[in-house]
Amino acid sequence: MDFKHQRVALNDGHSIPVLGFGTYAPDEVPKSEACKATKIAIDVGFRHIDASHVYQNEKEVGQAIRSKIADGTVKREDIFYTSKLWCTFLRPELVRTGLEQSLKALQLDYVDLYIIHFPAAMKPGEELFPTDENGKPVHDRVDLCATWEALEKCKDAGLVKSIGVSNFNRRQLEMILNKPGLKYKPVCNQVECHPYLNQSKLLDFCKSKDIVLVAYGALGSSRDPKWVDQSFPVLLEDPVICSLPKEYKQSPALIVLRYQLQRGVVVLAKSFIEKEIKENIQVFGFQLSSEDMNVLDGLNRNFRCYRNDFLADHPDFPFSDEY
Ligand code: NAP
Repeated sequence: MDFKHQRVALNDGHSIPVLGFGTYAPDEVPKSEACKATKIAIDVGFRHIDASHVYQNEKEVGQAIRSKIADGTVKREDIFYTSKLWCTFLRPELVRTGLEQSLKALQLDYVDLYIIHFPAAMKPGEELFPTDENGKPVHDRVDLCATWEALEKCKDAGLVKSIGVSNFNRRQLEMILNKPGLKYKPVCNQVECHPYLNQSKLLDFCKSKDIVLVAYGALGSSRDPKWVDQSFPVLLEDPVICSLPKEYKQSPALIVLRYQLQRGVVVLAKSFIEKEIKENIQVFGFQLSSEDMNVLDGLNRNFRCYRNDFLADHPDFPFSDEY
């Protein structure tokens, strides 16, 4: 079996590669780096690429994908591409526009997965982070069920193969699942997930509903000060995590990626460094014992690095609920 191309079934008949390549990089990183890194990722065997309109590099990521198709490394159908609907496009009438902007930047005909990036709507317009004269984010209110129906229409139009959500709490997932006339269930909920925030309750809930949990920040994030409080402990320096690699002869990064695969979580790994990209795909080459899985489970502290506090007073802010 070719482990590099391991996939898991989605509830709509499609499937998703269990390891994905993350493309978010802090603002100071030149956008061309996303193109270079994505090409390397495809060359070494990544087939799942996670991106978003708000990362402002879909043009470069699309360029990388198209060049790897053009040189015969992959076919379009080998690649699983995720994009995300940003908070300023959550009004139902803007959903297709948001998606079409991504497709135009990518120069692709469809995306494999399109997900609502974050459930708290912000004022529509050119600005990705609209603020008022006091620098406060300008909220918008939408019925997320109506947003979901607009996503369903994009799937019916053939512009996306699968649809899902990100950063939804259980209550918000249930709202979609219980929507009268629901046509398609969300296939996934992409959330921050690592040993300090292992999301075990949300994971159990998602599994019970046949929704795949996709982990971001699985390596502890790139600690971009724009998003991450610098007091957050460095995950890959955790003494317990660092004590495990000796036995497995694997790096702390591989240990925490492997941890997710063994608990049935699809995991994203971002790196723009060739050596690390090549290392991360080695996650299929070893197995953690059930004792060590328990040790890693024991590190949970419900510590969130992407707190998104700037939206904390939004009525649809997802992180006020327990999970
Ligand atoms: P991450 O995958 O948790 O970690 C990335 C950090 O780990 C980078 O600093 C990277 O450094 C380092 N790293 C990667 N491989 C390593 C290795 N083998 N050894 C040591 N260090 C290593 O990052 P993330 O960006 O927070 O999350 C991953 C992806 O999830 C994002 O890129 C994005 O696609 C997605 N995401 C989604 C959301 C959402 O709201 N849905 C939010 C955040 C992220 P270098 O880059 O320097 O190699």
